Amino acid sequence: MPDGRKVRFEELDKKDVLYPVFQAMQRYANREHHRISVTRLVDCLRRSYALEYDEVYVPPQRYLRMMYGTAMHTILGAMEVPVAWETPDGITVYGSIDYLTEERLIDFKTVRSLPGQTMKNHALQINLYHFLLRHNTIGEQRNVPRLNVVYVDMEGNWESHRVRIKDHDFLHDFIRKRAKILHDALEKRIPPPEENDWLCRRCFVRKNCLWWF
Ligand code: SF4
Repeated sequence: MPDGRKVRFEELDKKDVLYPVFQAMQRYANREHHRISVTRLVDCLRRSYALEYDEVYVPPQRYLRMMYGTAMHTILGAMEVPVAWETPDGITVYGSIDYLTEERLIDFKTVRSLPGQTMKNHALQINLYHFLLRHNTIGEQRNVPRLNVVYVDMEGNWESHRVRIKDHDFLHDFIRKRAKILHDALEKRIPPPEENDWLCRRCFVRKNCLWWF
């Protein structure tokens, strides 16, 4: 490392200096998890594949943000409700609901700054949890009338947004189709197609994708 000069993390020699850190981060990201989960289905499937099989360079800023989110979910851990559903193709999709009352399903999101409205993928994600809860195969099946996404920033400020319940058939088809694509890709070890949408803008595995070149 050059003396007296501020060096970007990415510039450091991974093999000699930072390789153990990369390995530890990768192990952390891939710690025990379900391969087919709600979180993965709402994300880019190609990225989910890369995180499973490739050695991906994840910028440390991402991990620091992720650690905040993980800390929040560790705190909520005792209240989480595990849910799962087996698709007609025989693929089990797992999820974990942050908080559930008689009336309401709540999903907490840690953010850098409060968004002022529900983000589209978060509205979809909470709907997928709701779907799994209604068809739950590993616990009680319930149908609660209200869904809320609650954003919490690094200062502890928060806002709560009510989310509209989406069409049942749409959710069924969404989960079935994407679970099949991800499952087959993981089994055959062939990356799913690029999705090339807003998720690509800040994607840290984009070097694996053709559009990047
Ligand atoms: S760059 Fe886009 S298509 Fe490629 S893995 Fe990332 S999100 Fe997916």
